[in-house]
Amino acid sequence: MRLKDKTILITAAGQGMGRAAAIACAAEGAQVYATDVNREALETLEAVEGIQTRYFDVTDAAATLALAEELPDLDCLFNCAGIVHHGTILDVSDADWDLSVSVNITSMLRISRAFIPGMLRRAEITGTASILNMSSMASSIKGFPFRTAYGATKAAVLGLTKAVAADFVSTGLRCNALCPGTVDTPSLQGRIASAPDPVQAEKDFIARQPMGRLATVDDMTPTIIHLLSDDSRFVTGQAILVDGGVTI
Ligand code: NAD
Repeated sequence: MRLKDKTILITAAGQGMGRAAAIACAAEGAQVYATDVNREALETLEAVEGIQTRYFDVTDAAATLALAEELPDLDCLFNCAGIVHHGTILDVSDADWDLSVSVNITSMLRISRAFIPGMLRRAEITGTASILNMSSMASSIKGFPFRTAYGATKAAVLGLTKAVAADFVSTGLRCNALCPGTVDTPSLQGRIASAPDPVQAEKDFIARQPMGRLATVDDMTPTIIHLLSDDSRFVTGQAILVDGGVTI
């Protein structure tokens, strides 16, 4: 039970990696607050022991403060929410850009700012606390076609992660980023289905993975648990790639 007695908030926990993380963290003994804007998806998590759900839109500044007020002090925070804008720089409207910045990076700033004081109180008692921010291999690590707004905002996640890690390194509060390869999740399936040729689109996603397959969410959860738990107590400020060798 690597997360016993730990209270964890996870954003975008309705589906995909956030959902898998919520279930895996609860199985490791954590008290998990699973949040999302998809109420139906949240309902399906309510029966899982160790999980409580909350409707939470990460772009809502007032809701962020209200949630920090309501919840107990956190040991761990997994900022998982993010959206993919598909397009080159010529396709990104100001509205597309603003939405990507809002969901992918401003939310992390606000949520971290709201919850860090409580996490520092926990770290004073337990000696440790951990923030995990969802980035991507598509960031400052590697450029991909049609990922201007996405890659820029996921690169910003790495800058935020390192800055937070540096500011709190002496307190026991750590901050790392997860950089997955292409993971088979509902939103990826949506991107494949909305491509002009979905069969070719799936082949193209698989072709960029040198292991010859997409990642599953279960390929990610061991690293997520590692980074949230005290197993990674000497790791901070790092961009951890779990990409099946794309960036070798
Ligand atoms: P997903 O995209 O299938 O699901 C995302 C969840 O986010 C949904 O449940 C949705 O309701 C929720 N959501 C959307 N907007 C929200 C908001 N404003 N507030 C709260 N919740 C919101 O899941 P995924 O593919 O596992 O993606 C999760 C994260 O992982 C994202 O940050 C994504 O950029 C990142 N990521 C995904 C991949 C991939 O290949 N799937 C690769 C690297 C990084």
